Amino acid sequence: MSRMPGFVLVGLLAASLLLRVWLAWRQARHCRHADDARSGRYATARAGFAVGVAACEAGLILAVTLGGFIAWLDRVWGSSPMAGAGMVASVVLAFGLLGAAGRVGQSLIIDARFGPEGGSPEGGRLGASLAGAVVAVAASVVLAALAGQALGWLVATYPTVWWVWATILAGVGLGAKAGLGPRGPSRGSAVADPAGAASLSAALARCGLPNTPIRVRTSPAGARRANARIAGAGSALHVEVSDTLLALLTQAEIEAVLAHEAGHWRCHHLARDLAAQVGLVAAGFAALALAMRAPEIALGLGVPEPTPAGWLALAVALTPLAWFFARPLRAGQRRRFEYEADAFAARHADAGALMRAVGKLNAANATPPASDPLYARVYSFHPDEQDRFARLRAVGGAA
Ligand SMILES: [Zn+2]
Repeated sequence: MSRMPGFVLVGLLAASLLLRVWLAWRQARHCRHADDARSGRYATARAGFAVGVAACEAGLILAVTLGGFIAWLDRVWGSSPMAGAGMVASVVLAFGLLGAAGRVGQSLIIDARFGPEGGSPEGGRLGASLAGAVVAVAASVVLAALAGQALGWLVATYPTVWWVWATILAGVGLGAKAGLGPRGPSRGSAVADPAGAASLSAALARCGLPNTPIRVRTSPAGARRANARIAGAGSALHVEVSDTLLALLTQAEIEAVLAHEAGHWRCHHLARDLAAQVGLVAAGFAALALAMRAPEIALGLGVPEPTPAGWLALAVALTPLAWFFARPLRAGQRRRFEYEADAFAARHADAGALMRAVGKLNAANATPPASDPLYARVYSFHPDEQDRFARLRAVGGAA
């Protein structure tokens, strides 16, 4: 009986890996027939590489649970007043290093060979990738230590309702992050051309967002990737566009993209996205609180008689597996947001210009026009170009 949770874990990991391999195979088969061979090869390579990273992640999940890493941490840290910080940060560091290695590998091997900037090796790509990865891992470890310590204290202080307080705390943190918008040096500059800037601001005003700043993000030399997004809230609300997007699109196309971004705000997507994140966090904490009543679950997962910090570390280790199964829900919601923002843009700007802009942006980003439908259902946060165009034609025709 005590081995049951271990068997369930191995079974779920095996099932998730088999599903990933099958989906990547479907995606490769689908992309072989893509009109644009380059974006098809890129999509296939990315799907294959992601399966490799997922296999390493599954191995790490087994190593930290059944392999005894968390049990060892619990013996070393368990009685320390800093157990929450130490144990959660240790497990986050292990997964953070693997994730960083995956991202650097993706950038150096897959993006460099098949990506939109492929074939033009940029000087310093390795240095920039590594520096970015180190900063990201360090930041996540510091955040994990703070969150782990706070959660450990909550579990000890409110043994039955800690998860409600934890959800409120996480909601406040996620809300602050979303409300303040992007961090770091990517804040960007104002649009250089005053006449262009005025007409872009007027386009946003027509969408119900007067006086909303537009920030231009400078891309690395030789970069082709182009994108836009709306972020922040209240006085921090702003639209961010890459300089490559401004260079690639006509004025009408840029205005249509701004209308799409405004649609994300006017359809409350930022708030609904935040609510979905908080909902997932609440479900995770509630599941952990339930599991904590059954120590045999932890025993079966390789952590006998865990301290509260040991339970938290176990939950962190199982999060990537839970995320794989929750991801289709999130992806479906995000694709619905894109359709809604497109429909809003079609009412407030030129739908034809938006379609031309989407086509140009997808070409610049080497996004394949269509993915395998099942693959897209699980992974894609953006709908396929063909689906977007079909809906835009329907909305545009009805308007
Ligand atoms: Zn969008």
